[in-house]
Amino acid sequence: MGEQPDDAAVTDTFELAGVPDAFQRLWTPHRLAYIKGGQKQVSSKETCPFCAAPQRSDEESLIVHRGKHAFVILNLFPYNAGHLLVCPYRHVPDYTDIDLEETAEIAALTQTAMRVLRKVSSPTGFNLGMNQGETGGAGIAAHLHQHIVPRWGGDGNFLPIIAQTKAITQTLGDVRRQVADAWPADGSGRDSED
Ligand SMILES: [Zn+2]
Repeated sequence: MGEQPDDAAVTDTFELAGVPDAFQRLWTPHRLAYIKGGQKQVSSKETCPFCAAPQRSDEESLIVHRGKHAFVILNLFPYNAGHLLVCPYRHVPDYTDIDLEETAEIAALTQTAMRVLRKVSSPTGFNLGMNQGETGGAGIAAHLHQHIVPRWGGDGNFLPIIAQTKAITQTLGDVRRQVADAWPADGSGRDSED
């Protein structure tokens, strides 16, 4: 890490949302054509991929669920298949900027996302977190987002270390469909299996 250029891509030509990292992917998403610009490109709501995403269809924007104050979207730059982001609809940068209702819904959506991912892909662990500010590692610092990264034993294998490459086994469209289909209708995820 640390070799990521300042002008790393944050969106593709369709302005899909994502948080870039230093890894290259073995798989080539079907329509990625990177735009240079990095953080400077996401200085306003007009250029923010997390603000643009809800204005498109779920399929186009890779959204898996829309809540009242927040939505769940696939990361365009996944660490693992099923890497989700929970974002408030409001364009605010910091965890202290969201009100209690938004905070509660982001927490509930995070729990539901974990339940859904357990159902569809049986991860054995998770990493959850929010990177705050460019210094904190946020790819799109202007719009708050909570990462949900499913983990499996052996997923941190030698490839990322020696080759700066991650093997992603499913296309983003396939993952979106799987997760969206498994999302509970009432949003809670608290069904009989829990
Ligand atoms: Zn935004």
